[in-house]
Amino acid sequence: MTSVKYACQLCGRNFSWPSSLRLHQKMACGKPPNFYCTICDYKSNFKGNLKRHMCCKHNIDLY
Ligand SMILES: [Zn+2]
Ligand SMILES: [Zn+2]
Repeated sequence: MTSVKYACQLCGRNFSWPSSLRLHQKMACGKPPNFYCTICDYKSNFKGNLKRHMCCKHNIDLY
């Protein structure tokens, strides 16, 4: 059974939680991502997310 996600009506991104969707629409929707992973195509509007991504996915400690 596929769990229904909370989709952003504006950009089509899916979120697991309504609060994530709200935060996305308030903070990030329609804005180009500010932080890019140099290894894969991950992008984020939040430095903290990229930092966590680098750490979890690539075992790289940023900064
Ligand atoms: Zn959106
Ligand atoms: Zn990456």
